Amino acid sequence: MKNFGFSLSKDRQIDFDKSDKRIMDFVKIEEPTFNICIACGTCTATCSAGNFTEMNLRKMITLIKRGEITGVRAELSKCMLCGKCSLACPRGVNTRNVIFKINQALEKYSL
Ligand code: SF4
Ligand code: SF4
Repeated sequence: MKNFGFSLSKDRQIDFDKSDKRIMDFVKIEEPTFNICIACGTCTATCSAGNFTEMNLRKMITLIKRGEITGVRAELSKCMLCGKCSLACPRGVNTRNVIFKINQALEKYSL
C-alpha cells in the first residue's frame, strides 16, 4: 500500500443496537447520579491512582456509556477507592459508588 504519511483512524461510530449497555443500565438504576456526569474530567484530574497509573475515570464512564466495556475490569483494578473524585466532582456524582456499582455489574454479568 502506498505510504501517504498519514493513516486513517479506526471507525468510532457506535451501533447502539449492538453495543453492550448492561453496565450502563445497571449503574444508572443503582446510582442515579451516574446520569448527570458531564464528562468534565475533574475526577480524572484529581484522581489519586491517576498520579501513578493511567487510571482515567472520565474515560471509563464515557466508554461504558458507549457500550465499549472491554478493559473496564483492568481499569477499575487501579482504583484505590479513596473517594477524592467524589469530593471534587462539580456535578455531585457519587463517583465512588459508581465505581462500586460498576464492579457489581462486572460480577453480575461475569464480564
Ligand atoms: S468530575 Fe463528575 S461530572 Fe466531571 S467527569 Fe467526573 S464524574 Fe463526570
Ligand atoms: S476513588 Fe478511585 S477513581 Fe476516585 S480518586 Fe480515588 S483512586 Fe481515583
